[in-house]
Amino acid sequence: MDFSKVKKITKEVCQACGARCCNNIAIEIEAPTNREYREYIRWYLAHKNISVFVEDGLWYIEFHTECDKLLPDKTCGIYDKRPDMCRDYGYDEDGDINCFISQYAFNYEYEFHTLEEFDEYLAKKSKAKSKRKVTLSYK
Ligand code: SF4
Ligand code: SF4
Repeated sequence: MDFSKVKKITKEVCQACGARCCNNIAIEIEAPTNREYREYIRWYLAHKNISVFVEDGLWYIEFHTECDKLLPDKTCGIYDKRPDMCRDYGYDEDGDINCFISQYAFNYEYEFHTLEEFDEYLAKKSKAKSKRKVTLSYK
């Protein structure tokens, strides 16, 4: 299916997509602005099937885990009783498609799948910060 031509999300579209939004949960978390929050993120990323991403400046933890209500044919087993989160998902406030099939999906500033990737990011940040300090002290 050519998702760029899709104007409306239908059951067929979701099946062709593979029900990607039923395979994860993303929850906003504190940005790593201090040691405590950084250590939380390191701890999250030490676990399997967890990633952390940044979108529009906000930090999220993502659990890569399939919904227990997803049926083998990639439809919802509790469609009439599905949570509001699922009902509301798929479109933005202007009515445009805003889910995994959208061209804007995965437009993340950062994405980490391992603790090591995050440590590397922190090391780069800290290096850039100390470089800035040296530059400033010479002014
Ligand atoms: S990501 Fe979009 S197309 Fe795919 S299952 Fe979810 S709502 Fe349907
Ligand atoms: S409840 Fe249904 S729509 Fe919601 S994530 Fe699970 S399978 Fe998908």
